[in-house]
Amino acid sequence: MGELAYVNGAFCEPTKAVISIDDRGFQFADSVYEVVVAYGSEPFRMPEHLARLRRSLSLIDLDIDQHNIDFDTIIREGIERAAFDETMVYLQVTRGVQPRSHLWSDDLTPTVVATFRQKPTVKPETREAGIAVMTVNDTRRVECEIKATALLPNVVALKRARRAGYKDVIFVGPDNEVREASSANVFAVRDGTIVTPVRDASILQGITRGYIFDCAARIDQPIEERRLTLADLASAEEAFLSSTTIDILPVTRLNGSRIAAGHPGPVTQKLYQAFLAGLRAG
Ligand code: PMP
Repeated sequence: MGELAYVNGAFCEPTKAVISIDDRGFQFADSVYEVVVAYGSEPFRMPEHLARLRRSLSLIDLDIDQHNIDFDTIIREGIERAAFDETMVYLQVTRGVQPRSHLWSDDLTPTVVATFRQKPTVKPETREAGIAVMTVNDTRRVECEIKATALLPNVVALKRARRAGYKDVIFVGPDNEVREASSANVFAVRDGTIVTPVRDASILQGITRGYIFDCAARIDQPIEERRLTLADLASAEEAFLSSTTIDILPVTRLNGSRIAAGHPGPVTQKLYQAFLAGLRAG
């Protein structure tokens, strides 16, 4: 069928999908989202995505249980209808519609929208060369563990990076602490071990990040969560990003300098093979 949208119970063409200007998602970014990919008709790591969605909703005090919304069915039905080989599902839940007021009413019905599109692909030459990233101070709100649609710092930082010739940014907190990219988690390889920042409120708990821990275990590759400084990243043997849409993407340049030899390294490549091998298996 092709690209498809969903708004509050009905599927339609994306260009026909509309919501109210009084929607709190539009007014206040009072909303959360998920991005899920499906290989064939099977959404990848669906229980993890639904659990994170519920957690995001709970962290913004949106009591979803009283609304009887079957996210699993919406996602699966959209995937079936769109019928892509690899589908990227965007699902957003807003607090609902009311005349603009900071204080929400307790009787709102959440708005649920979704789109179903072909999963984008990273160009093979980009994967082979790895990407260049630049660092920026992390000026985002503190609760980055909520998958909130309030992504203004992320989109502005990304655009500035592109204008400066970089593919992405790495947000860096106080004490030069590496956090995450504009829409991906960050990993470095140091002394043969994959290292990634500790899972706390300053980063999103990526579903792909979790999957990478499983892949590493499968190939006996040491991996650990620990504090990662900018200096650690700059002097790493290898570095890469992860997300639902890019999978694993090598980072080979940081602020204009090469990371190690400036090529994707063996640990990243081996991990990527294990990653691909498990995608359609879950
Ligand atoms: N961090 C941020 C800020 C993100 O936006 C994303 C992707 N939505 C991720 C990390 C990676 O998360 P996931 O692996 O679940 O796609």
